This record gives sequence, C-alpha cells and structure tokens, in this order.
Amino acid sequence: MKLEKVIRDVPDFPKPGILFKDITPVLLDVAAYRAAVTGLEKLLEGTGVDVFAAIESRGFLFAGPLGLAMGKGVALLRKEGKLPADTFAASYELEYGRATLEVHRDAFAAGQRVVIVDDLLATGGTAKAAAELVRTAGGTVAGFLFLVELEFLDGRARLAQDGPVFSLVRFGGAA
Ligand code: AMP
Repeated sequence: MKLEKVIRDVPDFPKPGILFKDITPVLLDVAAYRAAVTGLEKLLEGTGVDVFAAIESRGFLFAGPLGLAMGKGVALLRKEGKLPADTFAASYELEYGRATLEVHRDAFAAGQRVVIVDDLLATGGTAKAAAELVRTAGGTVAGFLFLVELEFLDGRARLAQDGPVFSLVRFGGAA
C-alpha cells in the first residue's frame, strides 16, 4: 500500500505558500486506513505504551483505532475551551498561526507511558506543546507517532529531547 499516493496535496491551504497534506482520502479508502493504523502499530514495536494522547482533531482519527487495536486508552488533547472538566493548558506556534491545547487534569496516572499521536509532523510546535502538557499532567512521554512527517521542516530535531519520533510516511522535498 503506497500511502503517500493516497495522501492528497492541496497547495496554498490554509494560506498561500503552505502545501497542505490532506489525509481525508486515506480515511475514505478502507484498505489505506487499515494499512495506516497497522503501520503505525508496527512502528511502536519495542516501545512500552500505557496510553495514547491524541492531538485534535486529525490525531483522534489514528489514535482511536490504534488504541482499540492495542488495547490502550486514548486521552484527548483538545483546543482551548472544548474539554468539560478541569484542564491543564499549553500554548504553541503552528506552521500557520498560534493555538492552545488542553488536557483533562486526571487524564494520566502518575508516570504512565504516553505516546502522542497526530496526523502530521511539520515544525513540531504542536507536538512539543503536547509533550509539555503530558508531563504537566503527570505522564511520561514514551514517544511521538505521526502518519506523515514533513522532513524539511525539521520537527524531529525539535522533539529529540522529548522522546523518540516515529512516522510512517515521509516527504523530503519542500514542495
Ligand atoms: P506543527 O506544529 O508545525 O508540527 O504542525 C502540525 C499540526 O498542524 C498538525 O496537527 C497538522 O495536522 C497541521 N499541519 C501543519 N502543517 C501542515 C501541512 N502542511 N499539511 C497538513 N497539516 C499540517
């Protein structure tokens, strides 16, 4: 399964100069979606995982099936104001903007090994904030897991101090 061929390039979204990697065709293609989840699970072989932390919103789509497949729970890292109970928050820079992530204060038991999941690693700002949030909430970052990595933005280097980085599909060129 050539997942990189199923992921669609959308130029100039959400603003000029950004080449958006659209994973929605993967979700519509059951074989591709299954291959994505199976591939992500394989990447985690040898990594102790207690629970996943899914980054809103596309991270949810991979962490959910992965959690079920591996028999692990899924904590939600949501955008500001969405979670109903008491939260911790962390702010961060995006490739295109600024945002805040929140997590429920009771999402993790102390020292639980947490794998952070998102659809795509760009600059790493979102995942870095997610790692901060996981630690603030008492978890240990066991790793980062992405369907797609944009290698030229060097997010991996930015996350190196925080934990191992795993990605299934890598794009090396700037366009
Ligand atoms: P970053 O914090 O720069 O690593 O950005 C990662 C987050 O923004 C992820 O949640 C992605 O879904 C989204 N994102 C950033 N850049 C892109 C892109 N070029 N294509 C698709 N999603 C992107």
